[in-house]
Amino acid sequence: DFNQNDLTAVVEADRAHVWHHLLPHKPLESSDPRIIVEGKGMRVWDQKGKEHLDAVSGGVWTVNVGYGREEIADAVRDQLVKMNYFAQSAGSIPGSRFAERLISKMPGLSRVFYANSGSEANEKAFKMVRQISARHHGGKKSKILYRHRDYHGTTITTLSAGGQEHRNALYGPFTPGFVSVPHCLEYRAHEQGLEGEDYGIAAANAIEEVILREGPDTIGALCLEPITAGGGVIVPPKGYWERVQEIVEKYDILLHIDEVVCGVGRTGTWFGYQHYGVKPDFVTMAKGVASGYAAISCCVTSERVFDMFKDAPEDPLHYFRDISTFGGCAAGPAAALSNMDIIEREGLLENCTAMGEYMLDQLNALADRHEVIGQVRGKGLFLGAELVQDRTTKEPADEKKVQAVVADCMQQGTIIGATNRSIPGYNNTLCFSPALIATKGDIDEIIESVDGALGRVFG
Ligand code: PLP
Repeated sequence: DFNQNDLTAVVEADRAHVWHHLLPHKPLESSDPRIIVEGKGMRVWDQKGKEHLDAVSGGVWTVNVGYGREEIADAVRDQLVKMNYFAQSAGSIPGSRFAERLISKMPGLSRVFYANSGSEANEKAFKMVRQISARHHGGKKSKILYRHRDYHGTTITTLSAGGQEHRNALYGPFTPGFVSVPHCLEYRAHEQGLEGEDYGIAAANAIEEVILREGPDTIGALCLEPITAGGGVIVPPKGYWERVQEIVEKYDILLHIDEVVCGVGRTGTWFGYQHYGVKPDFVTMAKGVASGYAAISCCVTSERVFDMFKDAPEDPLHYFRDISTFGGCAAGPAAALSNMDIIEREGLLENCTAMGEYMLDQLNALADRHEVIGQVRGKGLFLGAELVQDRTTKEPADEKKVQAVVADCMQQGTIIGATNRSIPGYNNTLCFSPALIATKGDIDEIIESVDGALGRVFG
C-alpha cells in the first residue's frame, strides 16, 4: 500500500533527525534504520515490505492483544471527538469506567491514579511513600528498597531504584534514600548451595537482613517486579513471596509491585502477583494496559494508602500534590477499556496460560538439542532462555553471540529479544513475549527460528 518514493524519503528523514531509543547510531551511517510501517495480529511489516513474526509484542512486551485492532482505534476515535482532554483534577467517563473495571480485577485495592508511562507510575508510588513518611512518620520512614536486577524506569529517580548497573552507569548522582536488596534467581543459587523453597526463603530473608541493617523504622516501602523482566525473566522461587509478605507486615513496610510488564494478562492472570497470593499496597502498570494503542499508566493503591492523604483537607500540604498532564487524556482509558473487552471476549488469559505452557515445553525440547541453553523459565507468554557456556559452571554465554542469535532470527523474519546491556556479565537471556493471541503455529515458527539461529551461532 505504500509508495516506495515516500518510504525512501521517510528513511532519510529518520536517518537525519530521529534519535532512536536504546540504539547505537553509528551503524545507521551505512545501513538503513528499520521503519515498521504496518502491523496485523502477530505480524509487522517493515519499509522494505519484509514480514516479521513478532515474538516480543512491539519489542518491549507491550502489544498484548496484537496489532491492527480496529475496535480499539474506533473506541479511541469516538472518545477523542467527544471529549479528548481535561486535566484529571476533573474526571472523565472512560477514566471512571476503566478505574471501576480495573479495580474489579484487583481485590484489596481501590484507587487508580492515572499517568502515562511506567516510569511515571512508579514515581507516583515513590512520591506517595515519601509523603506518607513526611505526614505520618515525621519524615523518618522514607527509604525505598529495590532489588538487584529489577528495573523500574528511565528517569533519574526510577533509575535510583534500578538494579541494573549498565542502565544506571553515567547518570548519577542519583536520588538519595533508595537501597538495594539481593535478587532471587534460583538458577544461580548454586553459588550459595541452596535450592527450591530453602533458597526462596533465604532470598526473602536477605531482604530482612537489609531492613535490619538500615533500621525498619527508616524504610517506607519495598518495590519489586512480580517476575523480573529485563533483568533476566526471573520467576521467584517457591516460598519467596510468602516470606516477603510476612516481612513487610512485620516491619510495617508498604509493598509496591511493579506490574509494568506483567500487568494485564502477560503471565496468564490479570496481574503477576496474583500467582502468589500477595497483598500489595501499590501496583503500577503501563505497557499492556492499552497494548500500545494509547499512552496510559496507572498507580493503583489500597484504600489504606488513599486514606493517609484524605484527612485534614484544610492543610494545603496534605493531599497528594501531584499531576500528570497527559494522565488526563481520555484516549488512554478509552483504549484500556476496549483492550480489556478483547481480553475477556477472546479468552486471552486462558490462551496465554495454555500457549505459555506449550511454548515452555517447546523451549525445553530445544534445550534438549542445544547444550547452550542452561535454563528455560517464565510464566504464561513471558518466557526466557538463559544461555551458558557450560551447564555445570553456568558461565554465561558471550553477549555478542546472544545478540547474534537475535540478529539471525531477525534475518529469518522473527523478532525475539534478549537482556541487553543491563547487567554486567549476565546479558545472556533470550526473551519471548508474543501477543496473548499467539497460536501453536506461531509458537512453532518462533521455535524453528531460534533452533536454526542457535545451530548457526553456537554450532
Ligand atoms: N517497570 C518495568 C518492570 C519495566 O520493564 C519498564 C520498561 O521496560 C518500566 C517500569 C518503565 O516503563 P516506561 O518505559 O513506560 O517508563
